[in-house]
Formats: sequence, structure tokens, C-alpha cells
Amino acid sequence: MSAHAAAELLKQQIPLLDYVEGQDWKPARRIARDRLMGLCPLHADRKPSFLLDPNKNLFYCYGCGRGGDVIRFAELYHGVPFGEAIALLRRWAGANSLLSDVIKFYQVRLHRHPEAVAYLVQRGVRQPELVEQMRIGYAPGRCLRAWLMSLGYGLRDLQQAGVVTLEGLDAFAHRIVIPLDSNLYGRSIGKAYPHRFLPGGKGGLYGWEKVRNCHEIVLVEGLFDWAVLWQAGFRNVTCSLGTGLNAAQIHQLCDGAARVIYLAFDSDCNGSGQRAARQLAQRLWTHRVEAFPVELPDGHDPNSFFVDGVGDAHLFQALLERARS
Ligand SMILES: [Zn+2]
Repeated sequence: MSAHAAAELLKQQIPLLDYVEGQDWKPARRIARDRLMGLCPLHADRKPSFLLDPNKNLFYCYGCGRGGDVIRFAELYHGVPFGEAIALLRRWAGANSLLSDVIKFYQVRLHRHPEAVAYLVQRGVRQPELVEQMRIGYAPGRCLRAWLMSLGYGLRDLQQAGVVTLEGLDAFAHRIVIPLDSNLYGRSIGKAYPHRFLPGGKGGLYGWEKVRNCHEIVLVEGLFDWAVLWQAGFRNVTCSLGTGLNAAQIHQLCDGAARVIYLAFDSDCNGSGQRAARQLAQRLWTHRVEAFPVELPDGHDPNSFFVDGVGDAHLFQALLERARS
């Protein structure tokens, strides 16, 4: 294949919007013909001057005057020449398809392992729609490497992505696996340390795109909190995967939209969850975001609040209202 044909193929494989969003770009608004405007990732932009057309796969910045296709974007964004931009994009596309193949493998395994299903039931995950929605899977700890290699991935790629250990074993063995935006979360169902991610950071808030336009948002610290609230009918919930929010997550909450954030962190007996919620609320207020810590009964998190039968959707709603008053 000629270099030109290879470049054309790559452009078809990687939608510009996917790639730019993969670099943490968020559109500020939609304009005519489904085009998007946002802050320019290529220069220090103060008002949205970066135009992206997802249908034509082209961008143009009214601020710095630069534009082009996904390859041009990668050249400018990473400051690399054409050939290196192509190599970067290939690696990016490869890592993305690897992740989706891994997720599919785990999803199929879930229902073949009663111990995994039993764990989900114990955490209150009951609705098949929820399992589907969250794309929950299970890593049995066998066969992953062989299966991925049969799909054509090299052992080094698998190790580099962190899905397989240096010994060639499944890095998420005996864990419930839940896909994040550009990572995986693994919850141990055995004795291993409970939480695990792939290298590279937890990324932004869970399911942010679906809630960012809600006027009221509930922020929880764990994905199983998110799960039971979803099941109870709350569709305005997001999750920070821990009480320490990273810069990307803070940035999402403080994007200038007028909204109210309820912080429903764990109500630990030592008070650490409540303290974290109060500190975060203060921090958000300094960014002029209205934020209210929610007080759960002592020793409970949103998950156990529902699972232990302490409360229901009605009572949780009442807690939100009380937090604001
Ligand atoms: Zn620009």
C-alpha cells in the first residue's frame, strides 16, 4: 500500500472527533450542520474558536488560523512531523480496539462464572439492563492472552497496554471489570486489593457526557454507588472513582454551566468521607459551582443505603433535598 493510501485508510479508521475528544477536548456548543465549537487545544484560547466538523472530519481554528484533518491535528497537537503523527495515530487506534476486544471478552465470561454474578447480586446489581448499560464483565484469569493473540495482537502490545502482566497473566484476574472512558476499572471479588486500573490514570468523571446537561447532578465515589442509583431511577449521577478528584474531573464540574452538585460520598465512621465532601464542596463554591454534601446514615454509602434496605429512591431524594436546605 502506498503511503498516501495508508494515510487515507487511517483517516477513515479514526474519526477526528473521537481522537480530539480522546485528548480531553470538550465541545462548548453545537452550531449549524452538527458542527462543534470549543476551546482550541492548539493555542491558549479564551473563547471557543476551534471548529470541528464531525461529518467532514475537518477542523479549523479562528484563533490561530490552523486547520486540517486528523493527521494534521496530531502533527500540531503533539508537535511531530507527518510520519510520526501517522505512527502515533496507529498506536492510538490499536490501543482503542484492543480495549474494546478485552471488554467484549470479559462481558462474555461474566455469565459463565456464578461467583462473579453472586458478587454483583451482593452489591445490589440486579437488572440485566444495568449490566448491559455499564458493560460489566468478569476476568476469570484464564485464556485472555491466548484469545487476544489469536486476534493478531502481539504479546508486547498487551503488556504495554497493561491488560497482561510481564508474566503473561491477565492483569484483572478474578475481578469484576467495568469499562471507563479510556481505562478499565477492576473490582476484586477475592482477597486481592479491591481496586485496579490500567496504567494511565482514571480519566474524567464516569458517564459525564450523559449528565453534563442536567441541572442537578449527584456525585458519588464508587461505581457500585452509581449502579444502585441508576437502578433506583436516578439518571443524573456521575462518579469520581474515589474522593480525590483529578484535574480533569474538577475541570468538568467547573466548566461554566449553571448546575447544582450533590456530593454523596461514603459516610465513614471516622468521618473521612464527610470531610472530603465538605472540602470538595468548598473548592467548588470558589469556582461558583453550587455544591452540597449529602449526609447518609452513619457507616453507609449510597450502595449500602439501598442494598441493606436502609432506604429507597424516595428517602434518597429526601436526603438530597435536606442537603440543600
Ligand atoms: Zn487555535
